[in-house]
Amino acid sequence: MNEYALPYRKFKNERLANLEESQSKEAVTAMPVRVTLNTNSDCNLQCQLCGFSSKTSKCRAEYQKTTMDWELVTQLSEQLFPTAWEIIPTTCGEPLLYKNWEELIELINKNRCYLGLYTNGMLLDEKISIKLIPYLNDLKISFDGAVKSTYENLRQGANYERVIDNIHLFNSLRKNYQYTFRPTLTIQYTLMKSNIEEFPAMVKLASNIGADRIAASHVYIFYPDQKEESLLFHQDICDLNLNSSQQIAKSLNIIIFFPRSFSNSINSNCLFKSGTCSYLYKETWIDINGDVHPCFMLDSPIMGNLYKKSFKTIWNDIPYQNMRRTLNTESPYFFRCLNCPIRMQFDPNYLKGYNKAGFLFYEKE
Ligand code: SF4
Ligand code: SF4
Repeated sequence: MNEYALPYRKFKNERLANLEESQSKEAVTAMPVRVTLNTNSDCNLQCQLCGFSSKTSKCRAEYQKTTMDWELVTQLSEQLFPTAWEIIPTTCGEPLLYKNWEELIELINKNRCYLGLYTNGMLLDEKISIKLIPYLNDLKISFDGAVKSTYENLRQGANYERVIDNIHLFNSLRKNYQYTFRPTLTIQYTLMKSNIEEFPAMVKLASNIGADRIAASHVYIFYPDQKEESLLFHQDICDLNLNSSQQIAKSLNIIIFFPRSFSNSINSNCLFKSGTCSYLYKETWIDINGDVHPCFMLDSPIMGNLYKKSFKTIWNDIPYQNMRRTLNTESPYFFRCLNCPIRMQFDPNYLKGYNKAGFLFYEKE
């Protein structure tokens, strides 16, 4: 295959995926453009409100496995990487703890994909940064407090100074690359009662440490005793701080993504096209045990298992077709699509508005 054939195939695939999404097709020809491989669920932190990692999630406690078999990763690389642009290792743990992460990067590189990485930043030393930078599209560092005490309280086991130092180092190293070959750096902020008033200061901090973007989204509450952290119950204070953060970001010329306000007076960037869900046409989320899920929500239905069927079969099998067909009906195949937390936050045209189903994950409707 000549050196342009793979990128051309990816372009063609993405164009087709956009078309099929705009036509709300039930069965599709295009393959996912972005693939999340839940390579591992172990983590070096125990964040107070995390509902995903094997140490913090009660759902995860039922799983025997905390690591994806390397054989499954290699099989998936053959089935999915040639048409995908971006591969994301786990979003349910710390990806740099995956024992085969360096080999995974080689597979990503061999298939001309980009690496998208969500990390807590604790392990991001010079050696690791140097290895990652040539393959990275965007580095997303989760950072949930502008002040040391808030940050370390919410992110148990993290060290504020260490992560800031690691970000500075990453930032200086990426500057060795020409602008167009340089990965971007995003600070991910989970909005909750304990840190909403620090969000404006976090925008300043993100700018000071050289981030290109700051991206915020609302916390999902997995357990009733944590309910008070949801900004659904503190709407005025949330809107006030989102508003001032937006002004600060503008003055500092840093890109900001954040949920639309409760009062609807602030427009957020629309991440979803109205009326559809890109996850069903351009993305997929594969769990440690080979289960394929339509999106990152742990309670989303299992579309099929890769130890039993190929991805291509699962992608157009009955469950996926049902998901696509019933998405905008009153009884979708996956109950959360009715009040999708993502569309609720990031689609200003989402007519349903905010409601508790998008925030309180222990509630089933
Ligand atoms: S760093 Fe991420 S995966 Fe790890 S405990 Fe915190 S929120 Fe969960
Ligand atoms: S819950 Fe939301 S993100 Fe998940 S499949 Fe449904 S519409 Fe898409």
